[in-house]
Amino acid sequence: MNPWNELLANLAVVAIATSLWTFGHRHVLRVLPRYKNLAFGFIMAAGTFCVMSLPFQFADGVFLDLRYTLLTIAGLFGGPVAALPPFLVAVTNRIMTGGMGLEIGLPLIVMATASGLIAKRFAGEQVPSGRTIVIIACAVVFSGTAGFFVKVPMARWSIVMPSVVLPFGFVLFSSSVVACLAIAQELKRYEATNLNRIYRAIIEALPDCLNAKDLEGRFIAANPATAALMGSESADSLIGKTDFDFYPFEAATLFRNDEERLFENGVALTVEQRFIRRDGTEAWLSTLKAPFRDEQGTLIGVVTHNREITERKLLESQLVETKGRLTDALASMADGLAMFDASGIQILNNGRYLELFPLTADVRTNGTCMRTIIRSAIARGEETAASGNVDDLVERLADALLRPGDRQVRLADGRWLEARTRAAAEGGCLIVYSDITSAKQTEVELQTLNERLTKLASTDPLTGLLNRRAFDIAFDRIIASASRSNARTTLLMIDVDRFKSYNDTYGHPAGDACLHEVARAVSAFMESYPSSVVARYGGEEFCVIVPNVGSIAALSIAKLICLHVRSLGLVHAGSEKAVVTVSIGLASFDNTSGCNKSSLLNAADAALYQAKAAGRDCVRSIGDLETGVAAAQ
Ligand code: GH3
Ligand code: MG
Ligand code: MG
Repeated sequence: MNPWNELLANLAVVAIATSLWTFGHRHVLRVLPRYKNLAFGFIMAAGTFCVMSLPFQFADGVFLDLRYTLLTIAGLFGGPVAALPPFLVAVTNRIMTGGMGLEIGLPLIVMATASGLIAKRFAGEQVPSGRTIVIIACAVVFSGTAGFFVKVPMARWSIVMPSVVLPFGFVLFSSSVVACLAIAQELKRYEATNLNRIYRAIIEALPDCLNAKDLEGRFIAANPATAALMGSESADSLIGKTDFDFYPFEAATLFRNDEERLFENGVALTVEQRFIRRDGTEAWLSTLKAPFRDEQGTLIGVVTHNREITERKLLESQLVETKGRLTDALASMADGLAMFDASGIQILNNGRYLELFPLTADVRTNGTCMRTIIRSAIARGEETAASGNVDDLVERLADALLRPGDRQVRLADGRWLEARTRAAAEGGCLIVYSDITSAKQTEVELQTLNERLTKLASTDPLTGLLNRRAFDIAFDRIIASASRSNARTTLLMIDVDRFKSYNDTYGHPAGDACLHEVARAVSAFMESYPSSVVARYGGEEFCVIVPNVGSIAALSIAKLICLHVRSLGLVHAGSEKAVVTVSIGLASFDNTSGCNKSSLLNAADAALYQAKAAGRDCVRSIGDLETGVAAAQ
């Protein structure tokens, strides 16, 4: 009885099944990747069939085989799909073989299959570790030898254990370990190859340049992007060459210096390199250089990753240039300029802005809130603050300034500023401050001049009273207002008596002086009636409008004027009264009777005529036109 032939045949089957898979699985993966586990299962099933057909005999009637190794491996590396075919083959075969021990043989087949599947469940898609493999091998040993402990009486253990169980367990263990290691190794190799392929694909497709050089600066590996950057036809043609073969001497020396610096320090470095291409154009590279070491850690070269950043550099320099121009423009602006973001924080300003606010220039820095600036301006007396709560005031002023619009601000030192706010991007605003002090002064002067001109245009130069034009305007206004309010209006027409004779007697200048005196007397008297209007109507005639006064009161006013002028006692030799006197025609109308300007004038004129006719120095009045003439004296 020589079991070695069958034992060797069993081991050979395990080895062949394992080798078949390690050599063939790449092919299966390429052709039928979805049936990978099934194919593995079939190989293991064939192996199981073979080993069960070639059992070896350790002792009389004790036939053993390595089915447990194959059953477990199938589940461990291929999961349920791979475990099923050998399991079915083993069960069928065992049933068909029949004989004693069927009731123990079948559970052991299940146990071996289950231990592989359980290990697979824990390992997942990971390649099983050495520890897992040892545990699995132990499980195989247990599955293969458990039958002895059940079947063999304990009295015979001392004989069976050393002669059968131990050698068989050893064969099971070593066959499982070797087969598992072989498959695991192959899987790892496959994974590494795959990973390598992925890395290669990435490096090939990478738009950035990636290359490795030896200590002398010769390319030992490069991707197509490197070749494109260097103007070389392919990455392979770079191998063995140096930067000096592609770049002008100065540029290549620059690159080489960086590499030598790296070799000295042994530390990765990032640099931005400017260089001139062969065609004379300027270019920029952003470069990372990292030390390249062998497995012992000895520096053997440099790995370089670089990216052309010429366009970015160009944009950066344009940006710097534009910024410079903007700063220049801002600095030379005659107006102050400040920009605020949506939350009222100052983000930009120019020098002129600070000059305009000398007391708070130190606060008006970018990053400061508009409210803080206003608060300081009030506290330092730069801005005039209305009385009230300072917080409310600050809030109000900030709101107004940040809202688009134009406003004029008077600073405490008397300067006037115009603040023009315009909406800016993202909810912010831009405020342009202009010093309008001189414009404001001119405006005030112009206003004063205008007022003086208006006054001149409406004043009689001799008497200082309103002239005829101003009288007409005032008269229209009073009539209009009287017609709205349904009020009574009275007009007095005053004429100096015998004035021609006065001129003739005392001369024209004296006549002027006399007119001035009379005018002063009338206007002084009328000061008690603030809403009245006194004007020189022409020559030696004056008109007085007295709004809201009844006819009786108006009559007494007129009489008092007569008295007042007479009381001046201006000697008038040419008059029968011997002093300067006036005659007054009075017209007083209730608006409801439908008076108008010309009817009032005509009536007053007619009344004056009557006063003259009545002997002068007296008053005659005409009431409402409708009611006819009413003599008053
Ligand atoms: P009566 O009592 O009827 O009003 O007689 P009168 O002389 O005042 O009236 P008349 O209309 O005949 O003369 C008015 C005079 O007033 C004639 C004119 O020389 C004089 N006069 C008009 N304007 C001025 C003036 O601005 N200055 C001087 N000095 N005299 C003036
Ligand atoms: Mg007259
Ligand atoms: Mg007169």
